[in-house]
Amino acid sequence: MEKSDIAPDTFLIGIAASPGVAIGETFLVNRTRMIPVERPISADEAPSQVEAFLEAVRLSKAQLEEVKASVADRSLAEHLYIIDTHLLILDDEMLIRETISRIEQEQVNAEGALKRVLARFRQVFDSIDDEYLRERRSDIDFVGDRLLRNLMGKGQQSLSEIDQKAIVVAHDLSPADTMQMDREKIIGFITDVGGPTSHTAILSRSLAIPAVVGLETASTYIPGGIPAIIDGSHGMVILNPSPETFREYLEKKQFLEYQEKELLCYRDLPAVTLDDCRISLRGNVEVSEEIPYVIEQGAEGVGLFRTEFLYMNRLVPPDEAEQFEIFREIVTRMAPHPVTIRTLDVGGDKFVPEINLADEANPAMGLRGIRFSLKEVRLLKEQLRAILRASAFGKVRIMFPLISGISEIRACKEYFEEIKAELSSEGVAFDPTTKMGIMIETPSAALLADRLAREVDFFSVGTNDLIQYLLAVDRGNEHVAYLYEPLHPAVLRALRTICSAAEENGIEVGMCGEMAGDPLYALVLLGLGFRELSMNAPGIPRVKRILRQVRRADADDLLEQLMLCDTAQEASSWLEEEMARRFPDLFGAPAI
Ligand code: PEP
Ligand code: MG
Repeated sequence: MEKSDIAPDTFLIGIAASPGVAIGETFLVNRTRMIPVERPISADEAPSQVEAFLEAVRLSKAQLEEVKASVADRSLAEHLYIIDTHLLILDDEMLIRETISRIEQEQVNAEGALKRVLARFRQVFDSIDDEYLRERRSDIDFVGDRLLRNLMGKGQQSLSEIDQKAIVVAHDLSPADTMQMDREKIIGFITDVGGPTSHTAILSRSLAIPAVVGLETASTYIPGGIPAIIDGSHGMVILNPSPETFREYLEKKQFLEYQEKELLCYRDLPAVTLDDCRISLRGNVEVSEEIPYVIEQGAEGVGLFRTEFLYMNRLVPPDEAEQFEIFREIVTRMAPHPVTIRTLDVGGDKFVPEINLADEANPAMGLRGIRFSLKEVRLLKEQLRAILRASAFGKVRIMFPLISGISEIRACKEYFEEIKAELSSEGVAFDPTTKMGIMIETPSAALLADRLAREVDFFSVGTNDLIQYLLAVDRGNEHVAYLYEPLHPAVLRALRTICSAAEENGIEVGMCGEMAGDPLYALVLLGLGFRELSMNAPGIPRVKRILRQVRRADADDLLEQLMLCDTAQEASSWLEEEMARRFPDLFGAPAI
């Protein structure tokens, strides 16, 4: 669509993903999700498909050579042999010959032929009875994925091309995409897909960038370079705003900025209720650049450091030394407050092509979180060493993601003890009292909370996944986002079960899912018994302001009322009214 086809004041409604108002010009990023599609071809089409495949091989080699040439960092240079291995695979006669022959003989397009060949290679590697060789399978996955991307992704616009302040419009953005952008340049996000706890939404909240997701086909008709407004609090986008609308939103933006500054007066005050119940409000962190912001908002430590972001947009995973340096820096800067470092949680929607399997039919239920780490034990052990070594510099807590049963946590504990013994025998400093906890984010972990509580020092509830799995609602799917309900009676019951199990066993229970940072739920979570809430830093002042104005008993009463509601809709309308009555300036009608 041309710029002139968009009528003045064209309003679009999507899903509110990150609050605030952004006013600027659109920048269109053409990034449709790349899923290899097999299709039959005619014999005439075969030569062009063979040529496309060979071109993808040439391009992949050139990219890898370029990366090799650009690695100046000596600590990374040691790992360049991995790139050489990948270059050798790209030269592999069998890979090339078999793909070409499948295109020609089986009359299937290049993507399809390559997909079949890669599947066969993987099978061969899986059946090898030698752990080292079996691990080489990940090299095949890596190379295969690069080839597929090059085969399918021609003409993609690079996100690093954005060179002036812009509102990014895209079909979808993976966490890796978002990380690639120059964050100074992005003032807002608009995407076709995604739900309120998709990673684009979480990252934009962390970075305080207004975002609206789930706009279905918006990226197909919003042109680049047109004026637009994002009202991230109400899930609204306005294209070609009229002068009146522009003025209205400019005032709203200024009001929100003023309100945010006002709330900062709570920064150095503790989150304590009127009757002295103390809650720790901590920050969720994806990249270490967020730390100054986390401190500025008054966080008492980091309740969730998502280490998977360290693995994105690079060919070689970070080794122990690199991770240790990053953890040490964060721990030192946050001292005397604790930092909870979560081991790698890749897979699902946090797909990292360099290490994840490319072809899982159902990635949310696939080899993600702790399942991946228990398979790639070398990576897990490296992380455990790096985390424990950082514990010599401040208070560290270690946390394992996506635990679904007792045997997983026992396996983690064994590795944890093994690494402690290893460090002790090497004379390397670490804090032997480092606490070890788990995310409760699967229904099985919630149901088993009483047993799991005997195994660990603390729980942190990951509502983003817990709600997804409990209600069978994909957290990133805009079509079912209306069913993603934190106040669903089943969610409230699960949270109560988890908190009671923690209390009965005398272990700490916190929450680090997005529910923790939404001020609407602050009283509910207080009533349930959460004493640590970890959230994207911008959410801290509002939640603190609420907690400082209530009594523990008010929260208990409110929770009892809420638990009586039959449906999530009933519960949320009741809670919204109740919170607006108690805190009209925070939850009342919008200022404008
Ligand atoms: C969660 O699931 O609530 C969580 C905090 O983990 P992530 O969003 O990284 O999956
Ligand atoms: Mg999770």
